[in-house]
Amino acid sequence: MDYLPLSYINHFEYCPRRFWYIYVQGQMVENAHVLRGNLNHANVDRPGYATTDDAVTVHRRVHVVSHRLGINGICDLLEEDADGALCPVEYKQGQQGKWRNDESQLCAQALCLEEMTGRPIETGAIFYFGSRRRMTVPFMPALRQHTAALIRQMQLALAHGQIPPHTSQRQRCQGCSLIDVCLPTEVDLLTQLGLTQA
Ligand code: SF4
Repeated sequence: MDYLPLSYINHFEYCPRRFWYIYVQGQMVENAHVLRGNLNHANVDRPGYATTDDAVTVHRRVHVVSHRLGINGICDLLEEDADGALCPVEYKQGQQGKWRNDESQLCAQALCLEEMTGRPIETGAIFYFGSRRRMTVPFMPALRQHTAALIRQMQLALAHGQIPPHTSQRQRCQGCSLIDVCLPTEVDLLTQLGLTQA
């Protein structure tokens, strides 16, 4: 079975077409936002662990997998308290956005960790470099179901074998680094003129 890299859940939820460009076609435009994110991540991505004064062990760059869901990937940082409770922490560029894609990616990590350890994971956290804020994410049943459904949709999209259509939520395109590859406005115009299909 092929395992999907869980970081792509983030792209898929943002826009399935964006996921296709990056995962299937290997397209990635390195704009300032992407480069800043890569640089910030380089500091987080040192493997190893340390224990804080609060007796929390911080594991960095933890490989995770779910055989049930067919995903694997990396957890940026995993906190483990003295009682063994686990809390995955994801680091993100910018500030908390309007979309839930960061939460779904984090939840996928938690689902992997639960399967690997047999321990329930109730919350995770996302640290946004832009705002320097840490947001707690409870792994409620709705988020778990939503994340599992996204993974299934990704697998179905790949099995379908065709690039997904443009997102109907065109405000997302303004924040997408692939807008100059995807050309949603131009394709809309050509479609209106009957010169191509969306
Ligand atoms: S430009 Fe818009 S439609 Fe195209 S990949 Fe990005 S978000 Fe999706």
